[in-house]
Amino acid sequence: TAHLFTFDGFIRFWAADRPQRIALDGPDTTLDFAQLEETTARIAGVLADLGIGKGDRIAWIGKNCTLYFSLFFAAARAGVVMVPIGWRLATAEATWIAGNAEARAVFLGDGFDHLVEHLKAAADTRACLTASEARARIAAARPAVFAPAGPHDPVLQLYTSGTTGNPKGAVLSNMNLFGLRKQHEGQEPHQAFDDDEAILVTMPCAHIGGTGLGVNALAAGLPAVILAEFDPREVFDAVEQKGVTRFFIVPAALQMLLRHPDCARVDFSRIRYIVYGASPIPLELLRECIAMFDAGFVQAYGMTETAGTFCTLPPEDHSPEGNARMRSAGRPLPGVEVRIVGEDGRVLDAGEVGEIQTRSTNNMICYWKLPQATRATLTDDGWLATGDAGSLDADGYVHIQDRIKDMIISGGENVYPAQVESAIYGHPDVAEVAVIGVPDEKWGEAVKAVCVPRPGHSIEPASVIAWTRERLAGFKVPKSVDVIETLPRNASGKILRRALRAPYWEGMERQVH
Ligand code: ATP
Ligand code: MG
Repeated sequence: TAHLFTFDGFIRFWAADRPQRIALDGPDTTLDFAQLEETTARIAGVLADLGIGKGDRIAWIGKNCTLYFSLFFAAARAGVVMVPIGWRLATAEATWIAGNAEARAVFLGDGFDHLVEHLKAAADTRACLTASEARARIAAARPAVFAPAGPHDPVLQLYTSGTTGNPKGAVLSNMNLFGLRKQHEGQEPHQAFDDDEAILVTMPCAHIGGTGLGVNALAAGLPAVILAEFDPREVFDAVEQKGVTRFFIVPAALQMLLRHPDCARVDFSRIRYIVYGASPIPLELLRECIAMFDAGFVQAYGMTETAGTFCTLPPEDHSPEGNARMRSAGRPLPGVEVRIVGEDGRVLDAGEVGEIQTRSTNNMICYWKLPQATRATLTDDGWLATGDAGSLDADGYVHIQDRIKDMIISGGENVYPAQVESAIYGHPDVAEVAVIGVPDEKWGEAVKAVCVPRPGHSIEPASVIAWTRERLAGFKVPKSVDVIETLPRNASGKILRRALRAPYWEGMERQVH
């Protein structure tokens, strides 16, 4: 069944097995598996006409739609690497990625025609097609036969979220995307799909939580119901009207669902799993969600570099009261190894905090054109350094502290912002909070909380400080509290702590450990 580890294998298999089942149900159009096979063959013809073949890269900028996923699947069948670029990026950032990736052609989604001229100028671009031009070419093309990509050929180049610095292009193969899931099928119950399921794509396709869900749906032969972009009301409609049975969502978006006035009236009974992850979730928010939604909750810990999830906290470890396990990111999926490594390179014991490393078929091939960063991230024997600090407990559960780059050292003590944020989150006046380290003559770095008030509330810094003091050790309590209207976030909903830190560190070098 080696052919089943490739896009080509899956598309052929499902087109024969279930030609009339829906494969892609997007805001633009719907394709069943037979139409998906036919469309991808036509797109292969379009790519061949453009002189694009195995090993070349093409880019996409646009909102999520069936056109994007069919272009991606078609390219991946033939070993042409898809580079999805976030549509929320500034034009200069998007052009930089297209140029860095040496994209031979750039495809634009509906509403992005204004980018044509900018992207034509990017290095190596032979063609920049608007969505309507692409559709016309696909309709006119003759289906092409192509040599399918092998399991270890690259098929996707996904840029990291750029939370801690410049985004890096993680090069992912068929095997990275399908290997783990298919080799260990059904071993973890919440990772097994029933044949009557449908999967909702809520995250942008330039993030592994968007594109990766489309990939999972294809691997399971199930419909991917695609939202152009995240919107609470659209999630509710898809849940009630499209037979969706599971979705992946980031904590910030989960909070938006929960706070939406319609939320309590939505029928979630068909939802089996709500998978959340990509950034830390405050315990209080998680407890509220468990009380609100009658679904199995699964936490996913993963990265672009690991083609998505490698650890999960299963539904049975969630409870409305909140238990100690709910502060963890769960345990490695079957087929995944996790270890904790100290600064001296020693593999640490349970309970000791160091860098989280992982090894599995999911680990990327390399970072595109960044040999030094690749060497610093992937060891010769296949371990990937996550850049996250954490520990394993005696039961093998992974406890993420925070990103190593964001750790605050105050008076010689390590403070992990995520823990402080989680404690402050429960404060009745606080809607959102980010914790950063600011320079301090006495402590080296001092803990600062930047808070967004709940609508109609105002925040008293002394009250936030007192609240935290009741819950955390003294050295973790913020020395100061700022109040702002919104937190800077990137397209994956992650708080950009480096942007919040910048004004305080102007002209100074912040030590990263
Ligand atoms: P960049 O690498 O460019 O700074 P990024 O790390 O945010 O950006 P992603 O690959 O989208 O880019 O995110 C992976 C990171 O997200 C992980 O290394 C981890 O820090 C965080 N993360 C993922 N899942 C979880 C989770 N369940 N809980 C806490 N943090 C998580
Ligand atoms: Mg990262």
